[in-house]
Amino acid sequence: MIKTDVLVVGAGPVGLFVVHQLGIIGLKAEVVDNLDKIGGQCIELYPDKPIYDIPALPVCTGESLTNSLLEQIKPFKPNFHLNERVQEVTQDNNDWKIVTSKNKVFIAPNIIIAGGVGSFEPRKFGIENAEKFENESIFYSVKNKNDFKNKKVCIFGGGDSALDWAIELSKFSKVVLVHRRNEFRGAEHSAEIAKKLEKEGKLKIKTPYQLNSIEGEKKINAITIKNEIGEIEKIETDYVLGFFGLIMKLGPIAEWGLNLEKKTIPVNTKDFQTNKKGIFAIGDICTYPGKLKLILSGFHEGALAARGCFKIARPNETYRFEYTTTSKTVQERLGVKESD
Ligand SMILES: Cc1cc2nc3c(=O)[nH]c(=O)nc-3n(C[C@H](O)[C@H](O)[C@H](O)COP(=O)(O)OP(=O)(O)OC[C@H]3O[C@@H](n4cnc5c(N)ncnc54)[C@H](O)[C@@H]3O)c2cc1C
Repeated sequence: MIKTDVLVVGAGPVGLFVVHQLGIIGLKAEVVDNLDKIGGQCIELYPDKPIYDIPALPVCTGESLTNSLLEQIKPFKPNFHLNERVQEVTQDNNDWKIVTSKNKVFIAPNIIIAGGVGSFEPRKFGIENAEKFENESIFYSVKNKNDFKNKKVCIFGGGDSALDWAIELSKFSKVVLVHRRNEFRGAEHSAEIAKKLEKEGKLKIKTPYQLNSIEGEKKINAITIKNEIGEIEKIETDYVLGFFGLIMKLGPIAEWGLNLEKKTIPVNTKDFQTNKKGIFAIGDICTYPGKLKLILSGFHEGALAARGCFKIARPNETYRFEYTTTSKTVQERLGVKESD
């Protein structure tokens, strides 16, 4: 069990900046994100895209913004719990008890939900028994490529992830790349490499085919694929990887007893608290009159939510407004030295 002042749900840009706002007023935060990486939409959806409306940064990318935010919160040494979804939130006397999908338990007087559009989840195979093989023979991401070394691997999808992993794994495994269309959606250059590998006999490409059935008991030993005119082909394989993109689901957030409005959480604009005391919502997931789904709005929301958390986490202390330029306490928390 981990005790903290604030549990932050979501490591997107807004969840990261709020760690800073909490840190400078002396509150400790733990951050949980469903994804395997930090940065939310900026990293998952557009790492290389230029962003032009972050104050004082004429241009940055999703990736460089994430890196700068991480640098800025370094002094507060936040713990990130990645690959874990916040599942349950229940009252625990004056605190909240938070349980993740890996059964990690946090106790905190405050929760800040910076969950964006909800948790990103992979689009999965529609075949009836596919779920039964998940995480055993069927995967929707590659955590460690060595798990697939010297094996037979069938990769489904036509985008960058499918092409990149087909190219990469073909270096040491027998790979079949299956796509439901003849044209690939991913980078032209990657599609060309895949076709070249096929000509050299290092990779098999099957288009336009889709998964038709799965054979095996605990593990998959073969699958069949079917094309548009109903022709069926059997492929012996150890693993099946599916890369069909991500879907965004509000997920368990909808079950925490919070008021909801069109998949967003209404908040008051004084401190961005929800209808539950000690639960705040900021960034894309919150709504109020005039809400703009922009990163800069989320930063402002985080600044006020952090002060709201202070009142609950430190009920016997008075919050004092201070500028970072002049506050010695803040500078100490930031690790600023006299010479800086
Ligand atoms: C293509 C594109 C371009 C954009 N360009 C701009 C731009 O130029 N300028 C701008 O200001 N904005 C832009 N945006 C919008 C901007 O990315 C969002 O406003 C911003 O990402 C919101 O940040 P957030 O931290 O609120 O949420 P997100 O970035 O969505 O992060 C939320 C995180 O919460 C996690 N999460 C959700 N539920 C749970 C749960 N139950 N447990 C654990 N983790 C959970 C998710 O996995 C995710 O990582 C753009 C968006 C897109 C898609």
